[in-house]
Amino acid sequence: MRIDLHTHSTASDGTDTPAELVANAAAVGLDALAITDHDTTAGWAAAQAALPPGLRLVRGAELSCLSPDGRGGTCTVHLLAYLFDPNAQAVVHEYARARAERRVRLAKIADRMAADGFPISGEALLAAVPEEATAGRPHLAMALVRAGVVSSVDEAFARFLNDRGRYYLPSSRTPIEDSLEMIAEAGGVTVLAHAFATHRGPTVTGDVIKELAALGLDGVEVNHPDHDEDARKRLRHLADELDLITTGSSDYHGTNKVIGLGQETTAPEMLAEIARRATGVAVVEG
Ligand code: AMP
Ligand code: FE
Ligand code: FE
Ligand code: ZN
Repeated sequence: MRIDLHTHSTASDGTDTPAELVANAAAVGLDALAITDHDTTAGWAAAQAALPPGLRLVRGAELSCLSPDGRGGTCTVHLLAYLFDPNAQAVVHEYARARAERRVRLAKIADRMAADGFPISGEALLAAVPEEATAGRPHLAMALVRAGVVSSVDEAFARFLNDRGRYYLPSSRTPIEDSLEMIAEAGGVTVLAHAFATHRGPTVTGDVIKELAALGLDGVEVNHPDHDEDARKRLRHLADELDLITTGSSDYHGTNKVIGLGQETTAPEMLAEIARRATGVAVVEG
């Protein structure tokens, strides 16, 4: 069994449509795939409609949250939410708000670059991001590639768009305790994404993960392309100690990143436990 529980489509900042995503998952031999676009469930229906025979679809999302960092400050964390009811009022309301704020924020970043002479405009950029999709920095990175400013999305992040850069603005973030509560309320299961991926920016301490576990966090993503061996080991130990579900996933974004589908995988018993705990929606059998 090969199971990849963290992937993105054109419903957020991936480059495969939801239909292409499930087709590609089957093509690389995956048995189960989760679609986890940032702050939206907009890709669920199309992924389900195109589900190839034999592939199981776990419907999810990756929520942008604000957490204590364990050092007296705060930092951004990403919370994977699986199999929650997509019509739960609190979830619908909060993530509609988050997506609207993300559009304003991305236009602001683009306009800052325009003010510095880059051939880019916030308005033109947003016109190219479908209303139902979640706007993110990769959309701007792709626009910079199209404009010939950089030759790749990676170069755009390295030179201009990373969290430490002059154009960075944080995206909308929901307090982590609120996200945990609203997803639990909606019958979903929560897994903290790439918690120790230090090169992306500030991360939480192990003590914060203990606090989140006490608030109902179900699991941690251990095997992720941005985790080195030490990060994986520390997360595995924490999961053992706190009795958390552990997952492994590629965080595939299509051609926006070099990571392939199924590059990291989750053990079947962990997916079974996620499915057992969820009461929002079921795993779809293709
Ligand atoms: P945002 O949600 O707008 O803050 O953008 C974050 C997204 O940008 C992440 O989910 C990744 O998809 C992408 N990203 C972050 N860093 C890089 C990078 N160095 N190269 C390519 N994509 C990146
Ligand atoms: Fe992303
Ligand atoms: Fe993430
Ligand atoms: Zn992701």
